[in-house]
Amino acid sequence: MLKHKTALVTGSTSGIGLGIAKALARQGANIVLNGFGDVDGAQAEIAALGVDVLYHGADMSRPAEIEDMMRAAAERFGRVDILVNNAGIQHVAAIEDFPPERWDAIIAINLSSAFHTTRLALPAMKAANWGRIINVASVHGLVASAQKSAYVAAKHGIVGLTKVVALETATTGVTCNAICPGWVLTPLVQKQVDAKAAALGISNEEATRLLLGEKEPSMQFTTPEELGELAVFFCSPAANNVRGAAWNMDGGWAAQ
Ligand code: NAD
Repeated sequence: MLKHKTALVTGSTSGIGLGIAKALARQGANIVLNGFGDVDGAQAEIAALGVDVLYHGADMSRPAEIEDMMRAAAERFGRVDILVNNAGIQHVAAIEDFPPERWDAIIAINLSSAFHTTRLALPAMKAANWGRIINVASVHGLVASAQKSAYVAAKHGIVGLTKVVALETATTGVTCNAICPGWVLTPLVQKQVDAKAAALGISNEEATRLLLGEKEPSMQFTTPEELGELAVFFCSPAANNVRGAAWNMDGGWAAQ
């Protein structure tokens, strides 16, 4: 379905970003990978699906590096047809203890980076009259949790940005939507499970059950594979008129 298309997924060396990149690659899209950590492993997983892969190590907190990544993607593949703004970090602390530099980093990586990639990708998408912008927000783009001021502010912000981009492209073949996952067991969440286990002196399994039980009625994690299939749906012709949605896949979290 996505042969001859190029998908750029920020933060795609791990977790949800890698899951979405693999799902799009399975549909034939070439992939621009980005992120830190096990770059070679991620690149090999995508290449094994028989598509072309370009890795760019832009730090999503640095607009000049984002510009360089978008330039490199266009040079290699012509343009970015599918942009998935996924890179994100977390910091958990009460607001009066929240380190200002963590606030700045979360706003830059989880929110402002999507502004930069979007403004740079849109002209070519509009010229081609086809494009998909998928913002990986969070259920925290819809509701709040204590101790997550920067994250919740950034995720509510990216849901707002999604709606504005959807309106500005409403009469074109470009769509912009947000995905709002609940708990997904990635390194980002494993850290929160570990912290809970250590703080309460309980096992990993008990901490996992507590974490799910506080928020997620299904008591189940959403998987990167399931989120990848939702991204594939947004890229399909059936989703041509899905615009500005903030689509939760959260085991009932936001329904409460
Ligand atoms: P993860 O830690 O597994 O992956 C994060 C990715 O972002 C990695 O590839 C990492 O290298 C990359 N990254 C981090 N900082 C970066 C930077 N400065 N520049 C470029 N890349 C950077 O986390 P994840 O859980 O897969 O999270 C992915 C997205 O999904 C985030 O936006 C997160 O907020 C969102 N999300 C996660 C959950 C969850 O439960 N895990 C739930 C809702 C939303």
